[in-house]
Amino acid sequence: MSSPEEWRDIVIVGAGIAGLYCCWRLLEAGVSPDRIGFFEAADRTGGRILGATWPGDPGCKAEMGAHFLNSGHVLSNALAADLGLATEPAIVFRDHNIVHLRGCSRTRRQISRAWFRKPFDYRVSRYLQRRGIRKLLEKAVRASRRAGHERDRELRFDPPYDQLPLNEAFSRFLTDEELRLLADRLGYSFLHEQLHGNATLAWMADGLFGVRMSWPSSGMSALTDALRAAIEAHGMTIRLGHRLSRVTAGKDGNNASLEFTSPGRMRTIEAGSAVLALPPHALKQVEGLGDDDTMAALFGAVAQWPIATAAVVYPEPWWIEAGFAEGRISTDLAVGQIGIARRHGPETGSQHAALEIYTEGERSGFWRTLLRAGENGQWLGKDHAATREIHRQILKVFDGRLTRNPPLPVDAVVQDWQADPFGGAFHLWRHGSTPESAIERARDPVPGLPLSICGEAWSLQQGWIEGALQTAEQVLVGKYGLAPYGTAEAPA
Ligand SMILES: Cc1cc2nc3c(=O)[nH]c(=O)nc-3n(C[C@H](O)[C@H](O)[C@H](O)COP(=O)(O)OP(=O)(O)OC[C@H]3O[C@@H](n4cnc5c(N)ncnc54)[C@H](O)[C@@H]3O)c2cc1C
Repeated sequence: MSSPEEWRDIVIVGAGIAGLYCCWRLLEAGVSPDRIGFFEAADRTGGRILGATWPGDPGCKAEMGAHFLNSGHVLSNALAADLGLATEPAIVFRDHNIVHLRGCSRTRRQISRAWFRKPFDYRVSRYLQRRGIRKLLEKAVRASRRAGHERDRELRFDPPYDQLPLNEAFSRFLTDEELRLLADRLGYSFLHEQLHGNATLAWMADGLFGVRMSWPSSGMSALTDALRAAIEAHGMTIRLGHRLSRVTAGKDGNNASLEFTSPGRMRTIEAGSAVLALPPHALKQVEGLGDDDTMAALFGAVAQWPIATAAVVYPEPWWIEAGFAEGRISTDLAVGQIGIARRHGPETGSQHAALEIYTEGERSGFWRTLLRAGENGQWLGKDHAATREIHRQILKVFDGRLTRNPPLPVDAVVQDWQADPFGGAFHLWRHGSTPESAIERARDPVPGLPLSICGEAWSLQQGWIEGALQTAEQVLVGKYGLAPYGTAEAPA
């Protein structure tokens, strides 16, 4: 059934953090909620910021999407503070955390003190193995420009990183085994891909060096929940379960006509302008967008990076006895990185505890093969093949460090971020793309249609909440005339 057309001055599509932030900023700037329509395909807000709560114990929670706030990210931290969220330092790695590579488990401390023996079976010098990621990256970057860098945070990436794909530039200056060790220690295989050298390296340095991580004390979803609450406090309703399916020119030629499908219903909204806060995979499926050449070039500029995350629930936090009380374990197994789920919120009375896994690239496909249709993001039960396999791999990492048999898991949930509507957990600029002009193009993608695209995928801070906020900010300031965030706002 088709409903009569409605009019909105501004339509926002996608209630991930980019869309939520756009709506909140417009309302705070004085735009009346009656003028805005806000639509989201899923039955929840938050997009790639997602917490999982184990139904057997509401106190047992895990992060399935974004985990950390990066101290270098101005907008994200200012937003968390403005929303009144308490944050606390996040411990990413500790000296006693295990690194498990090529069948061998060593703690970070053991690796850094490996004076006489190679820590792992790679054809890489003992020195480079001991000094780890930083030295390997420095080796590649230094060799490329035959000069030192001033400070770690200011690694400058001169040619050839602006001319060669990341993988080729790296393989010029690192041996195959060094490159493999670097990727394995980072826990990311995109170093082997044809990505934009400069953009990817600058982005890596930003995430790796000189930054501290924190998280909202009540979990990452507190960010999007607080934005949603602030939007609703303005009297605005977010229409959940509305998937944008088609965009065409509006009747008078200056507007956009947006078609949404919701269960059993089709709804058309005529909009003065629209902000599509969506990743490329979602945009490609919108009729009227995916078939255009300019849009195809825009979509082709970014690679979608696959990641699967999981949470596995145990009756007790047995890993503490095995010396794992905080930080993260890195492995080259399909479980990828293993972290401890923080329990947050007022109801944390129980003994149940969870481990989180985070696995990327081809390895993430392993978990996909274990899920049946409809199981993505659902609690699977203790007897599911994925639950048992996560447990088996975790035990392998702790081999030799356990004084007793740990209990079996009671449940697990796997989230494959490659599935609809995301297409990947985050995005990376491809070799041959020109990120700055693609970002500009996204702000005005279809000549003659009053549309803007924003979100993490279209930013220079891909993979981060900051990227989503930066592009939203560009649209708000550039297209809607708002004052930059944090400066005094003129009433709209
Ligand atoms: C596993 C993982 C770990 C991460 N770790 C971190 C981290 O530690 N720190 C950090 O800062 N960032 C991290 N990120 C990245 C961060 O989560 C994202 O950058 C950010 O959440 C993206 O927000 P967005 O609004 O751009 O897109 P999204 O969150 O993808 O929002 C898009 C929204 O659009 C909706 N939608 C899709 N199609 C349609 C349609 N046709 N019609 C209507 N609605 C539609 C979706 O349901 C979704 O709600 C991580 C991401 C993942 C997946």
